[in-house]
Order: sequence, then C-alpha cells, then structure tokens
Amino acid sequence: MKPRSFLTHAIHTGQQPDPHTGSVIPPIYMTSTYAQEFPGAHKGYDYTRAGNPNFTHLEETLASLEQGKFATAFSSGLGAITALVSMLKSGDTVVASYDMYGGTYRLFRQVFEKFGIRLLQVDTSDLEAVQKSLEEQPALLFIESPTNPLLRITDIRKVAGLAHRYNTIVAVDNTFATPYFQNPLALGADVVIHSTTKYLGGHSDIIGGTLITNQGGIKEQADFLRKAMGLNPSPFDAWLTSRGIKTLGLRMEQHQKNAMAIAEFLQQHPKVKKVYYPGLASHANHGVAQAQMSGFGGIVSAEFDFELEIMKRFIASFELFTLAESLGGVESLVDHPASMTHASIPAEERKKAGLPDGLVRFSVGIEDSSDLIEDLAETLETFQARER
Ligand code: PLP
Repeated sequence: MKPRSFLTHAIHTGQQPDPHTGSVIPPIYMTSTYAQEFPGAHKGYDYTRAGNPNFTHLEETLASLEQGKFATAFSSGLGAITALVSMLKSGDTVVASYDMYGGTYRLFRQVFEKFGIRLLQVDTSDLEAVQKSLEEQPALLFIESPTNPLLRITDIRKVAGLAHRYNTIVAVDNTFATPYFQNPLALGADVVIHSTTKYLGGHSDIIGGTLITNQGGIKEQADFLRKAMGLNPSPFDAWLTSRGIKTLGLRMEQHQKNAMAIAEFLQQHPKVKKVYYPGLASHANHGVAQAQMSGFGGIVSAEFDFELEIMKRFIASFELFTLAESLGGVESLVDHPASMTHASIPAEERKKAGLPDGLVRFSVGIEDSSDLIEDLAETLETFQARER
C-alpha cells in the first residue's frame, strides 16, 4: 500500500470491504473453529485462539498507526504484557519505570517474580539512573511514557540508545500517548504495548491489548504465546476496537484540547496544590514531551488542598466526571489511584515512586470543556463552602 497519513490508515488499512459480499464494513467472524478441506489444509485460520480474520484486520491497522511492521491483538493490555514477559527466561532482570499502572506492577511482583524474573524499578526519566540499572544487564527495559498516574516523560530515543548497547529489549507502553501523539518504534523502541481498552477502543466497552514491533522474531513469539497461553481477544471485541480506531485522531484532538483547558483551570485554583500535565510549561519533563510527542494526551493528575477523606468525598461528587477505574473513553472519569487503580502497589512502594496518597487522576473526555470546568468549579466551591 502507498504511504498514507494517520487519519487515512485509521479508516482504510486492514478495513477493506468484504470481497465475498461487498459489505463496506468487514463482518464479525464469531467462530471458534474453521472448516478444513483436508487435515491441515485450511484458508489460514484453524482455531480462533490462534487467529481470526477480525484479529488480522485490527493488527494491520494497529501496525500501520504505530509505523510498525507487525501487531498481535491480545485479550487485554495485561495479556500483551504477559506475552512480552513470557518471552524472557528465569533469572532475567526487567528494569521498569518506578511509576506505572498498578496492575503491571502486580503482574511483575506477584506473578513473574515467582518464576525467577526480577523487577528492578528506576525513574526512567532520569538517564543516569537508567544507565546505572543497565549495568545489571537486564533482558528488558519496560517504560511507560507518559506514566500512569504521574505523567512522567522518558526520553525514549536516549534510553533506547543506551539500552541497545547492552542488547536490552526496549518496550514502551504507549497507552497514554496513543499512536496519534507518539510513535516509540520510530524513536528506537523494539516493542510498543497498548491497552486498547483505553483510547484505541475509545468507548469504555471492551477490554483489549496489543504488542507492535518491526522484528519478525518478536511477532512470531507474540503469536505463539497468544495461542499457547490463551491470551486472545474475542472477535467481537477486536471488531469493536477496529471501529473505535476510525475516530482516534479526532477524539485525541478533543481530549487534548479539553485536558489542556482543565490543567490550566486547576493550575490557577487556590484549592489545588499541584497539577501534573506534560503540556504545561511547569511540568518537569515538558521539553522532552514537546520534542518526542505531537500532543500531550487527555490525562491530568492533581493534588488538592483537602484532607484525604474529604478529598475522596469531593471526587465522588461530580456530575460529569464519573468516579471509575480506567481511562481513554469519550466520557470523563475521575480516579483515586492510591485506593483504586494503584491499590495493589504497597504504600511503601507508592511513596518511593513519588505517588502521593492524595493524588487524583482525571481522564478528560470529549464533552464541551466549559461544562467540564463548570462541574469542577462548582464542586470545588461546594466543598470549600463546607470548610468555611
Ligand atoms: N498499561 C497502562 C498504562 C494502563 O493504564 C493499563 C490499565 O489501566 C494497562 C496497561 C492494562 O491494560 P488492561 O486493563 O487492558 O489489561
């Protein structure tokens, strides 16, 4: 196919009309198995745990958006990370960002450590710390950038350059940025991971994940591990993800516009102690974010000047921000990481990662930003009035 731009790939690549019927939208192949003409002779699919046309369609789209050659669709973001870490062997070390999704931390610590895979956490936005950790000869460097929930930014090109001197595989969880705003493979990473549950699906109605790479050997292992470990999505979820992706670019523009407006509103409010958003000039890694991303995404974190228990009531009181785990859907959500998405990280470790107990994470949706700001302002006013 000719090189095309992002918005065109999102709609056409992997999404050609069905050759048998002309159906403009590819059908959903809800089948577990496939007829064979002769034992072993089939049309490329034998069992849906190993492959399905809806996975193939989605994988073609995902690979094109990340400027990669290959993608494998998984049951969830954690399914994709499970496959990636299962490529390692007992005795291997993984270096990962200090600040990362609580479920990823739990997978490393409570599952893979039992099998002899050691997790070493560093602040990957600190190049010296990364350099030092590489002396341990890790098999894998696993980065979130921006991180969940503190939105720290790692200079992907620089850390990939350092890691490759040690033959360390570099994987970037690109869930927060999405391929619309950041392409880690083009910056030197070997693997990109997404929880497609989030912005790629975009409508809070599926769970899915993917692993994208330019390396045939990694793609082969990803496909093998999906089949061997049962990490496949359902064809319907893969189809819904393909549908969601068609509007990814448009949604991300609006998510980012709203997130910037909310970050600026919060930054000037007297009841807000600190705002974390890579698009703000006050963000510690704003310069790196500007250089390696074409936009800053839709997640804003903040600390408020309320006692912890009052703050919890405050974030449960919005009209438009629903208190819920997850992120990246069209609707705005609010989360308290310490008791929700990151509760599986022990308090001691959260402290080391610099994750305050009072941190609040907003997944800013694509509603009208003035309505969202009004909701925040009114709820803040109600809680301030109660203090007076
Ligand atoms: N990576 C990041 C950055 C996430 O935020 C999440 C989930 O919140 C995951 C991975 C895991 O994805 P899933 O919930 O699809 O397994």
